[in-house]
Amino acid sequence: MQQALTPCPPWLYADAQRLLNAADQKRLHHALLITGIDGIGKQVFCAWLAEALLCSNRTLKGACGECPACRQVLADAHPDFRKIEPEGANGGIKIDSVRSLVDWLQLTSGQDSYRVALMSSANGLNRHSANSLLKTLEEPADNAVLILGAARIGALPATVRSRCQKITLRMGDQEAAVNWLAQYSSEPLQVLMAAGGGPYAAVRSLNEAEVEARKLLAQAWTDLFLHKGSVGRIADSIAKLESGFCLAMFAKWCVLAAKQGHHVPVEHHETVIQLLKDTQNRLNSEQWFSLYDRLLQLHRSDSASFKTQTVLEGFFADTRLIINGKT
Ligand SMILES: [Zn+2]
Repeated sequence: MQQALTPCPPWLYADAQRLLNAADQKRLHHALLITGIDGIGKQVFCAWLAEALLCSNRTLKGACGECPACRQVLADAHPDFRKIEPEGANGGIKIDSVRSLVDWLQLTSGQDSYRVALMSSANGLNRHSANSLLKTLEEPADNAVLILGAARIGALPATVRSRCQKITLRMGDQEAAVNWLAQYSSEPLQVLMAAGGGPYAAVRSLNEAEVEARKLLAQAWTDLFLHKGSVGRIADSIAKLESGFCLAMFAKWCVLAAKQGHHVPVEHHETVIQLLKDTQNRLNSEQWFSLYDRLLQLHRSDSASFKTQTVLEGFFADTRLIINGKT
């Protein structure tokens, strides 16, 4: 069951308004083919539009979230709404699913509202399943709307493309996108640009970067505690990471390591579980907590204005002294 209706990505409001205006004036095309650059928000937009069209009390922002139709959508039980998602490892859309969708679309809606079919990953259509759509595209039933989302329009058969209204989502409000991205990154504009301009692509790249960063950090931590290499070399290996991120991760690991004799909860990343296994017994609880305090102090002392290397090399040297029992 869905928890909440889909919000419209704020940088797509202009595209959203145009489509809702067309719907209000009963001149919405019966088959919309939604495309746009990687990460602009095609799938989210398709879902938002479907929900907005089904709502019996929609505003310019989309579905109200409260009317009986919206509650049916939330309960995954709206009689005039169907969605088809790719299945299986190759992400294909089955011809039987398309046929049953087409039959369903030909029925007329019981209400004055739209009957909406959503296929936000239409690139999963193969030639045969795409051809089964043609009937609906050529002889649309009253009030039926088919919403297709596709990353690669050129990969769809021309027979399908030519019968749809193509809508290319555009970055309509970069400031809104940057504000939205600020919840994930302290450098939202740079991240957005590096990802090619698609906000969702930017979030994806951040996640990948974070996984990579955590691996580097885990290696540095293990090397530090198992005496593999000099503190200078270890600090060097994580020099490109942001110092605040390093300090926060280390602090988290110290707290976990201090809980000696306790199993590390399984929800932690496997990299973290492994590094704790390898290093937890190097210090006792008290020592782990004193390292933790030290990390907090570094965090507070505006360490962000210093190079990661400088901040961490001192910390690493002190930690080695503690491991060697010299403090
Ligand atoms: Zn509603």
